[in-house]
Amino acid sequence: MLSSVLSRSDCADCRFCCSFRRKSLWETPLFDEETVEKLRSLYPDAHFKPRGDAFTIDIDDQYRTDDSEEEALCPFNKNGCILGADLKPFDCSIWPLRVMRYNGGLAICLTPTCPVISGKPLSVMQELADGEVGDKIAAYAELHPFIIKDYKEGFPVLRVI
Ligand code: SF4
Ligand code: SF4
Repeated sequence: MLSSVLSRSDCADCRFCCSFRRKSLWETPLFDEETVEKLRSLYPDAHFKPRGDAFTIDIDDQYRTDDSEEEALCPFNKNGCILGADLKPFDCSIWPLRVMRYNGGLAICLTPTCPVISGKPLSVMQELADGEVGDKIAAYAELHPFIIKDYKEGFPVLRVI
């Protein structure tokens, strides 16, 4: 969904948003139940656990040390995401944009850690959030509130929805 600002080659050598330190596990991808059932039959080695009204990957047993900086990779990243558009979580398709609880309402916010997006002017992402992309994100969040996350200090608020 963000192909106008993130190309395949941008992401080819970077898997930052597909691997997780323990303190980043709140960001693991979210799947609805129907998708999880399909993934369980296609990828029996992948593990899932409930999170709210949805499911996420269970990678707790992937950590090998007590180092808080250790990263564990999403099981669907094999030199890039192996999930097709029908199985890839919406959350992943909009990253680094996020829908967050903000000031008693909801807002589209920007995760500040994508190395490519953080090198662009904020106005680029502002334009996306204000336009059709932001409209689609707001509509999806209304129907699938499980993607809504708590606000994190320091995340730029692009659009209140
Ligand atoms: S962090 Fe940004 S550049 Fe890296 S893979 Fe994710 S979206 Fe692509
Ligand atoms: S589902 Fe795909 S895009 Fe999402 S975290 Fe896993 S590998 Fe990355």
